[in-house]
Amino acid sequence: MLGRRFPKILLLATTFSVVVVAVVLSLFYAQYRWLVQEVTESRSADHYTLLQGAFERNARWQVRIIEETLPAGKSGVDINQLPSFLNRVLADHPGLAGLRYTDTTQRTLAAGSVPNAISPGTTWSAERLVISVPVFRNGAETGTLTAAFLLDELHAELVTFERELRMHEVHDQQASYYWIGGGTLLVLTVCGGMIWLLLRDQTTRLRQLKTEAEKLRDADFGDRLPEGPRDAIGDLASVFNDMRDRLRETTHSRDYVNSILSGMNEIVIVTTGQGKIISANHAATRLLGYEEEELVDMSIDFVIDTAKAHSLADDAPSGLPKETTFQTKYGEAVPVSYTCSVIKGSEGEKGSEGEGRNRIYAAQNITERQRAEKRIRYLARIDALTKLPNRMQFQHLLQRNIARARRSGSALCLFYIDIDYFKEINDTFGHMAGDTTLETVAERLRKSVPENSIVGRLAGDEFAVIINGFGPEGNGAADSRRLAKKILDRLAEPFFVQGHEVFMTASLGVAFYPNDAANVIDLIRNADAALYHAKKIGGNTSSYYSPEMNEASVERLMTKSKLKRAFERDELIVHYQPKYNLKTGEVFGAEALVRWELPERGLIFPSDFIPIAEESSLIIEIGEWVLDKVCEDFRFWQRTVASPGRVSVNLSLRQLRQAHFIKRISAIMRGHEVSPTSLELEITETTLMENPQRTIKLLDDLYGLGLHLAIDDFGTGYSSLSALQQFPISTLKIDRSFVRNVVTNPEDATLVDTIIQMGRNLNMDVVAEGVEDEEQLIFLQSLGCTYAQGLLFGDPMSADNYLELLSAQADGTDSYRALFA
Ligand code: C2E
Ligand code: CA
Ligand code: CA
Repeated sequence: MLGRRFPKILLLATTFSVVVVAVVLSLFYAQYRWLVQEVTESRSADHYTLLQGAFERNARWQVRIIEETLPAGKSGVDINQLPSFLNRVLADHPGLAGLRYTDTTQRTLAAGSVPNAISPGTTWSAERLVISVPVFRNGAETGTLTAAFLLDELHAELVTFERELRMHEVHDQQASYYWIGGGTLLVLTVCGGMIWLLLRDQTTRLRQLKTEAEKLRDADFGDRLPEGPRDAIGDLASVFNDMRDRLRETTHSRDYVNSILSGMNEIVIVTTGQGKIISANHAATRLLGYEEEELVDMSIDFVIDTAKAHSLADDAPSGLPKETTFQTKYGEAVPVSYTCSVIKGSEGEKGSEGEGRNRIYAAQNITERQRAEKRIRYLARIDALTKLPNRMQFQHLLQRNIARARRSGSALCLFYIDIDYFKEINDTFGHMAGDTTLETVAERLRKSVPENSIVGRLAGDEFAVIINGFGPEGNGAADSRRLAKKILDRLAEPFFVQGHEVFMTASLGVAFYPNDAANVIDLIRNADAALYHAKKIGGNTSSYYSPEMNEASVERLMTKSKLKRAFERDELIVHYQPKYNLKTGEVFGAEALVRWELPERGLIFPSDFIPIAEESSLIIEIGEWVLDKVCEDFRFWQRTVASPGRVSVNLSLRQLRQAHFIKRISAIMRGHEVSPTSLELEITETTLMENPQRTIKLLDDLYGLGLHLAIDDFGTGYSSLSALQQFPISTLKIDRSFVRNVVTNPEDATLVDTIIQMGRNLNMDVVAEGVEDEEQLIFLQSLGCTYAQGLLFGDPMSADNYLELLSAQADGTDSYRALFA
């Protein structure tokens, strides 16, 4: 317990110092004992000398008295009386051992015992003190008196003194024991106390350090430590504080990044260069159903549905969005759009090949989007009422069937069918009946045609059928004739609508590929011409195309050569259709639309000549001319208004395919000193997908110039949105066919809503085309659409009128502002 609290070294140090103190004190004590011994001994020796002196002095004085009282005789001392005298004196003095008188004649008289032959003076022996003094009488020495004193008394006194001394000493010894004990105890207590205080202080500081370090370990930054005195612990505390501050800083920024990552809806998975997962954010674990720990160290392919997608681990990273399919823990396949980029990894991943090069996969769940896209595509291709392919899809299918027929050298036949007097059915029985009629027609057509035929609804009451393998010669002609009759008969059968019996007939035009036309447009046009002919001769019949029927086609040939001369004659003009910001009601730009002003025919709209122009390089010339005109107008407007807004120009596929396209259009813009940032190019989905690899590069270059890019007629193409995402597109234009019924048709409403949401998710501006009434405007506003253009704001206008509109807006007097109030 103690060992845990106090470091062992301190314990050893304490023991050692106690031992040292004890040894030193013992040494002191030994020396002291020795000194005391010395002192005691010298004192008893001194005392002995002193006592001896006194004893001797006393003895001498007694001898002197005895000598003086010796019995007097004639010749000095009375010898006769002397023995009794000596005996008497001896008896009176118990300390005397003996007395002797020797006269000059060496006559000796003695009492008691006196040692013989004693020299004169004082002689000390072990048992006695012998003093000899001369005896003088009447001026002459008469003899010598010798007295022997017993030393018993002296010895007894000395013994008493020594005993007393010893007793004192014992006393002193006890006292010094107490003193030494007390002193040692005091010293030890003081030292111990000091050590304890020191230890307690150090331990407290160390413990504090430990607590804070533990907090830090648990990602709690706590408070800064008091650094206290500048000793080793103080230094440690200051280093610790420093460390804590730095850690907090990095942790804060890391936490910030982490919170962004985990808050993101986008899936983020970081892997090594070899595809081993290092981390996955919250969105990833939520989607995949795995804990992050389960994913770490697994290959990225672990989460890929290998049945549906290829391996990602040996995927070359590129910033371009791609699609793959994830497989969740529960076996669910989730389509995602992802990008894979390379980052420098941390040191931890060193040592492997491609060391330190990690990958970041950022993916989005596109299940919803794919579903919406599918729906858009479906709705865009299928007529909602009859569930037949609509015009666009039908043309697309016709294109494919023609291509197939061309490859196999076979023929095909196109029926163009129109219901006779459909308008009357509509007017007599109402719209509902009209719809039922159309559904009936679709149903009957489907059931009448051979299996591999395709039925479509081209417009209102116009239907068409592609019949593969039927040619104008041999069996084909007879078969087609039989089929046409069968269809017309079937359609003529009466049916009931709301209790009314309805009689209906139809007319049918037939054209063959390749005999009557070599392409989709012409084949439809020619079948239409044949239909027109059938109607003209009374209806309820079929007719076969012949070149005379199509006066329009003759005109077309003329048109082509006329169009070529249109430039020279300055017959092309550009009109502008303003685009409005749905939030503010402000004009934010315009779309340039080309028109052809033929003196004898008036305005011809692009749908009548652009397809012809697109058949040759004429479209390139027209395109460049339009851009040139737009730039010229733009410069002109700039002289009057601060900002004419962003003007968009339509681009055709041929233009994009041109060798020096970028050079040429930059030259035009430069020629008019118009910044590319003021312009936008509109490109249809189909054009984009024609050669995606080349187009990406081209569009990146255009984007690099500062040009804005828009997808035109969005929804009518066949590409996936992920594929479109690779292009640097900033605007999505919803095709006007979707806007047309947006208010009345819930399916169209959902579709437009979905496109708007998608556009917003992809950070694109969304423009709704073909807004014709206020309900559509309000509805689009409610869906959060950003911009709109359409006939609601008037016809496309001349450059001058557009300038007037801009000026009016600047003055606050523009007429359409009320629409947005
Ligand atoms: P687009 O790019 O979809 O142009 C929009 C068309 O919709 C224009 O027809 C415009 O007048 C028409 N529009 C606008 N608002 C409404 C509306 O509210 N209702 C209806 N029903 N229609 C509306 P436009 O001018 O006949 O142009 C037809 C197509 O010709 C254009 O379709 C575009 O693809 C092409 N085009 C026009 N100008 C050029 C051009 O300079 N170069 C090229 N390559 N193509 C052009
Ligand atoms: Ca356009
Ligand atoms: Ca359009």
